[in-house]
Amino acid sequence: MTDVTLAPLRIGILEGDDIGGEIVPAAVDIARAAAELHGASIDWRPLAIGAPALATHGHTLPPETLAALETLDGWILGPIGHRAYPKLPNAINPHPILCKKFNLFANVRPTRSYPGIGCLHQGVDLVIVRENNEGFQPDRNMVAGSGEFRPTDEVTLSVRVTTRTGSRRVARAAFELARQRPNKHLTYVHKDTVFKLSCGMFVEECKKLAVEYPEVRVDDVIVDTFAMRLVRDPQSFDVVVTTNMFGDILSDEAAGLVGGLGMAPGLCIGDGDVAMAQATHGSAPDIAGKGIANPYAMIESTRMMFEWLGHSRGNDGAVKMGASMSRATTAALGDAQARTGDICGSGNTASFTQAVLRNLSL
Ligand code: ATP
Repeated sequence: MTDVTLAPLRIGILEGDDIGGEIVPAAVDIARAAAELHGASIDWRPLAIGAPALATHGHTLPPETLAALETLDGWILGPIGHRAYPKLPNAINPHPILCKKFNLFANVRPTRSYPGIGCLHQGVDLVIVRENNEGFQPDRNMVAGSGEFRPTDEVTLSVRVTTRTGSRRVARAAFELARQRPNKHLTYVHKDTVFKLSCGMFVEECKKLAVEYPEVRVDDVIVDTFAMRLVRDPQSFDVVVTTNMFGDILSDEAAGLVGGLGMAPGLCIGDGDVAMAQATHGSAPDIAGKGIANPYAMIESTRMMFEWLGHSRGNDGAVKMGASMSRATTAALGDAQARTGDICGSGNTASFTQAVLRNLSL
């Protein structure tokens, strides 16, 4: 039997669109260097996706790419600029399909403040765990048909899906994360005052699980109150678990507190088979090709993936990669000449990447 702790990690590189071609190579260069430093063995597999794949393979999510992903431990998914895709059956947004197919039901989105980069608050260190595959999102909450439909020209209906299983499993991912963090505090965010059945079910499942995690302090906050408290007092939160659309909106709000979308990483995980590193931001066509995109979110998403794979596969090299990348990225953020303009720097994508590489150490 193969010892998974020694087997190379098989990692896909899916650049995506627009700034993806700039920030994904930056993240890969840093991960390669960190792997070399720690003797971690990685089998990198570049795969076609997005607008370039439509040109070369006739599909934004080619069947070859999907088949290759099935053989991997994880992958880096660059931003997808699907809003600019032509209206063709083969020009689809791959993201929801990947999340459904690989059962990536938890989207883990950290928010951390750093000095000097234009954060609205210091001392912020929270993680929003967003349910990823159901809720209001019509592109993924149905097996067939759409969760959004228009019976007459006057009426449009959006169906929100909440399941006990979906609620329980994302809550478990959040409890697991909370119990590993120093503050061991989990906040459920919902609106069960109005969505009595759907949010009600979500909160019921969170509360049922709480008995299994007595070391985690829990509370629940109504979503509108949470949106206000996040702006005024983000330091009072640690891990936050919520449903799909609330999590999508609140994680962008949280990013706004600490320098914007370039500072918003994310990791999509499920029951433990694979992990997908995916920054929260889009493909930023307005700045693509200028070499000024902030690669932090993509680098940090990649780092989170290696740390997670390291723990789930017992791969010590990958865990150490994650620790080295974290120290190097923090040091690079402290260098105003290296960091990008969106976070009060005078550098660009290349200078930030070089600064992270320079600071990598055991
Ligand atoms: P989507 O809906 O696909 O997530 P979006 O509408 O949120 O996309 P983005 O592409 O994320 O839009 O861009 C929003 C703004 O944030 C743009 O002005 C963009 O330039 C900026 N932005 C996004 N990512 C970065 C980044 N990594 N570095 C610098 N600026 C960024």
